[in-house]
Parts: sequence; structure tokens; C-alpha cells
Amino acid sequence: MNKMSVKDLKELKGKKVLVRCDFNVPMKDGVITDENRIIGALPTIKYLLDAGAKVTLCSHMGKPHSIFSDEVKLNKKDLKKVESGEATKEDIIAKAKKDEPKKLTLAPVAKRLAELLDGKVVFASDVIGPDAKAKRDALKEGEAVLLENLRFHWEEEKKDEGFCKALAYDAEIYVNDAFGTAHRSHASTAAIVEYGIIKTAVCGFLIEKELSVMANTLENPARPFVAILGGAKVADKLNVISNLLEKCDTLIIGGGMAYTFLKAKGYEVGASLLDEEKIGYCKEMMEKAEKAGKKLLLPIDTVVTKSFPDPIDAPVDVKTVDADKIPADMMGMDIGEKTRKLYADAIKSAKSVVWNGPMGVFENPVLAKGTIAVAQALADVYGKCTTIIGGGDSAAAVQQLGFADKMTHISTGGGASLELFEGKVLPGIACLNDKK
Ligand code: AMP
Repeated sequence: MNKMSVKDLKELKGKKVLVRCDFNVPMKDGVITDENRIIGALPTIKYLLDAGAKVTLCSHMGKPHSIFSDEVKLNKKDLKKVESGEATKEDIIAKAKKDEPKKLTLAPVAKRLAELLDGKVVFASDVIGPDAKAKRDALKEGEAVLLENLRFHWEEEKKDEGFCKALAYDAEIYVNDAFGTAHRSHASTAAIVEYGIIKTAVCGFLIEKELSVMANTLENPARPFVAILGGAKVADKLNVISNLLEKCDTLIIGGGMAYTFLKAKGYEVGASLLDEEKIGYCKEMMEKAEKAGKKLLLPIDTVVTKSFPDPIDAPVDVKTVDADKIPADMMGMDIGEKTRKLYADAIKSAKSVVWNGPMGVFENPVLAKGTIAVAQALADVYGKCTTIIGGGDSAAAVQQLGFADKMTHISTGGGASLELFEGKVLPGIACLNDKK
């Protein structure tokens, strides 16, 4: 990676540093239910505090309304409610202003950070208001303040220049350590540097690690290199499929998207998820694989049900059929046993693997077997193969199954890692200073 990291900064003592973190942690009734993202941010924060920097931390949390701005922006869901007469704009704003400061505040994160960092972190109840300014002014060397949820201002996502200046305040150095939002071009993730407001801009240890493992594997993989893609729709992952096909030796397709490939192969897929418009694209990808001498593995058998379970984890009756014999009234919901073995064998022979997207409707225990089989196969090659889980559902599955410590790397950013898999340059990384 040719971007500067915090380690490349010489003088940090007394320096005012603004750090963009990803503290968008799941919460229930004000209690943090998974603190992985907080733990992931600690190495960078500790490094800066130990070096005597005066640290301002910032992050978003969820998708709030812009309740700290003069103008509260309504989202698409709200606009529908207003159009249908279900609620007025005023009702929506009043409810947001009442609920969101409690539900989407970063105060619990600041409390947890203070516990983890010997009380060196305080909380500011606003972002660019009087409390933030006072607490930033009062910082001593080796102390930090966490600002309130950035997205309480619409200006954050709209890259408003005035907001960028107020957020930068007197910071001399910008550190981006929020991999989960590095694919977003927002005020705190890129614009604050793009506008030239803070000139010294580097990445933190978390981004450095994400990039060094993922970008290096994508650029220079140990071979055979196997890419596994699953999830719902082909349309969501067009560029990922095409880019990974160029880089890997074997591309494995599972999940809902597999049925459009099977249809493109000439099979009938019954009531399975089908992206009619993308059948041509799937044919193209199969031809591309053949021309390049790459393997493209599709399910050879599939678990089918009569209907989609509702709720998603409700009991279901299943049977397994060959991939070319899906009954007209049934839908493919998971890869079958023969496919699980085929995919596990491909993983066994690999030297590096990237994985994004479940192999079936894994939210239902009966339909999670294919996803579990892939996770198990990856755990089995631990130590012999570089295994990278590209965030999102596959990361959650690996963690829930207790395989987390059997993977080389589990990305903290689903969207960001998918964009890396697509071969895109992430704005939150592109804006950082290059190594000299
Ligand atoms: P994605 O966000 O694209 O990674 O898709 C994840 C979703 O795909 C999960 O919620 C799965 O339930 C869903 N999914 C996986 N396999 C299938 C399938 N065969 N049919 C319908 N949905 C599926």
C-alpha cells in the first residue's frame, strides 16, 4: 500500500488530530450488543494517545435525520409517508428529534471507550457546537474527545464545505480509520481532505490492515486463487463477478444469484430467484471464464422449498434435487450436499480465497447448511491458505459459527470490501497522502 499511515507521522506530541472511526455498532436499548468495531479502533487511538496527541474522534451511527441542522431532510421512506398522508413532515421531524438523540447517540460508545482507555476519553454532546469546541479546546496531551453522531447533520453526507471546516476546527492532522465507510465520499471520510482543509492525511492501523491483506491478495494472490460469491442478486454484484473472474483461478457461485447462472446454462429454475435481465450477462461471464481457462463452479444440486419461509426462520420442508431438475413450483434456497463437497474440495486445493455472500437463505437454520459448509471448509484450511471474508453476511456467519479465529482476515466493511473486490478506488483512501 502506498498511502501514509499514522506510523509515518514523526511528531505527534501536542498535535491536534481528527480521527474518523467506524463506531456504527449494533445497539439495543442503549446497550452495545457487539463491540468489535470499538475494539478494532483501539490500536490507532492508543498509538495517538501514547504519542501525546490531542485526539478528536468522530463517527456516524445508523441513519438518523439531520436533527442538528436548521433544515431536517426527509428520506425516501418519509416522503412516501407524507405523500400517502400517513404522516406529516412536521410529525416525522418531531418524532426524529424526540427519539434519535436517545437511540442514535454515540454516548454509550464514549462511555465504553473511556472504560477501555483508562478514562482518557470524554463525550461531546454536539458535533460542531459549543460543547465540541469547549471539549476540544480543553484537551491535554494524551486525551481524546468523541463527538456526537456526524449524521445528525445532513451536511456530513452532502460534503458541505462549511461543515467540513467546522469539523476540522483546529485539527492539523486527519486520520481515517473507518474502513466500513471508506467507500463513501462524505465530509468526514474524504471531503475534509479533498477541499484542502486538512493537508496531512493518513490512514490508521485498521485501514492499513484491511488494505494490506485484501488489496495485496487481490493484486498478487497466492495461487490457486478461489473467489466465492453468494448472496441474493446478480445485479448487485455485476462488477464484482467480472473483476474477480479476471483475477482468480476458480470462481464459485452460490446463493440466489446462482439460479440466473443456471438459467443461462439452459436449465429450468422453477420459482427460484431469477434476474431475467441478467441472463445474457451470466452467459457472457461463462464464456469469459472459458476463454480465459478459468473454472466457474455452479451448484450441481440444490435444496428446494415450496415457498419462501415467513418469518424467515420459520420451519420449512425441504428436498434436494439436481440443479437441472428443479420442479416448476419450487425454489432453490441453498446449495445441496454434492455441491457443498464440490466447493469444499475447491477450497481445499486453494492457496488464497476471498468470500462474499451466503450460499443460501442462511437466516433459516435448515437452509444454512451450504453457508456453514463453506465456512467449515475455510476453517479447515486455516494456516495453509489465506482466507479473506469480505464483511457483511458472510462475516456474520463466520462469527456466529465460532470460526472467526480460523480466518486470515474478516473485513469490518461489507460495502467497502465489495468495492475493493470490484477493483474500485475507495474515496476515503484515495484522498490520503501518498508515501514519500
Ligand atoms: P447479499 O446482501 O446480496 O449478500 O444477499 C444476502 C441475502 O441473500 C441473504 O439475506 C439471503 O437470505 C439471501 N439469499 C441467499 N440465497 C438465496 C436464495 N437461494 N434465494 C433467495 N435469497 C437468497
